[in-house]
Amino acid sequence: MRGSIRQLLDLVESGLVPPEGFLVEILSFTDSVDELFQAADRFRDRFVGPEILVRGIVEFSNYCRNSCAYCGIGSRNRRIPRYRLSTQQVICTVERIKDAGIKTVVLQSGEDPGLDPYWLADLIKEIKSLGQMAVTLSVGERSKDEYAIWRKAGADRYLLKVETTDPALYQSLHPGMRLENRIRCLEVLRDLGYETGSGNIIGLPGQGPSQIARDLLFLRSFGLDMLAIGPFVPHPDTPLGGLEPGSMEQTLRAIALARLLCPYCNIPATSAIGTIGGDSARRHALNAGANVVMLNFTPWPYSSLYEIYPGRPGPDLAGKMLEGLMAWADENGREIRFSIGSARHSGCRATEPDLFIRSN
Ligand code: SAM
Repeated sequence: MRGSIRQLLDLVESGLVPPEGFLVEILSFTDSVDELFQAADRFRDRFVGPEILVRGIVEFSNYCRNSCAYCGIGSRNRRIPRYRLSTQQVICTVERIKDAGIKTVVLQSGEDPGLDPYWLADLIKEIKSLGQMAVTLSVGERSKDEYAIWRKAGADRYLLKVETTDPALYQSLHPGMRLENRIRCLEVLRDLGYETGSGNIIGLPGQGPSQIARDLLFLRSFGLDMLAIGPFVPHPDTPLGGLEPGSMEQTLRAIALARLLCPYCNIPATSAIGTIGGDSARRHALNAGANVVMLNFTPWPYSSLYEIYPGRPGPDLAGKMLEGLMAWADENGREIRFSIGSARHSGCRATEPDLFIRSN
């Protein structure tokens, strides 16, 4: 095992892509892999620095036309009331994010068929007029024209997780959707100049180390700026409600490998990690390659209706989480960074330490 990690490090240091088998071996190994986590932590420090970037998320609509087998807000779930926040509600929430000193707003929703692209464009413009703020969108698969309208309105980043790159698994979990379409959307977003993020879910039924290894190699090859990797969290009102959650150890290994493969990427310690493993797991992720934390500011009661999975922290916990994180960062030689925190260009390209400029 030690040998595989060392060989992997030699390869990534030389800018080479490791073979799938190496990643599978590391993901499958049964003993502890502290050496992997430490290597990823060193890479995080070397390529993106000690800062932990903080983002504020507003989940502005839980309408969704899709019925992803794992997701609690899928169209099949008739138990949750649906909502759409008004412009004023979103802006009030953004003001709270701004007051907390956070300079990135993530606007997320289900794939809402009633979303008016011009409403969202006006909202983006209004947020941008409030001051120096980055806007990240995460509203699913939309047309090229819509992506272009929002980019022109000032949206900076877009997050669209591929979830799994295994065609059969993708098909079985996403009725009526097509993996090729998701990948095409990511290409369009990248071509439009968005800082582009994607990622996968760890612990889906039928997914093993080989599928995860292929996901990671795909994500690396795409030249992404952000990589979100989180464990599967079962939701009782979905077809996968009776399954076990994804393994935290496997998720942390995937994050560590992602940092080694994509050294410049912004990688969050995702909310799903906090939901399954609490603060200690989130901190473990921050010590194993992650450098971003997203705090949920969606106002109550809407935060409880955006139930993609149960147990997500709501807005009441945002201040406490930030305080705890600041204390932890202080003790661990890390810094909480409130700046816009854009990805360094070429997130997934081969390691180029001399191109790294630390911005203070
Ligand atoms: N509609 C947008 C999209 O499709 O990208 C964004 C909203 S979607 C609800 C946000 C993310 O939640 C998905 O990309 C998926 O990875 C995650 N998610 C949903 N249900 C989940 C579950 N049960 N366990 C883990 N992650 C889940």
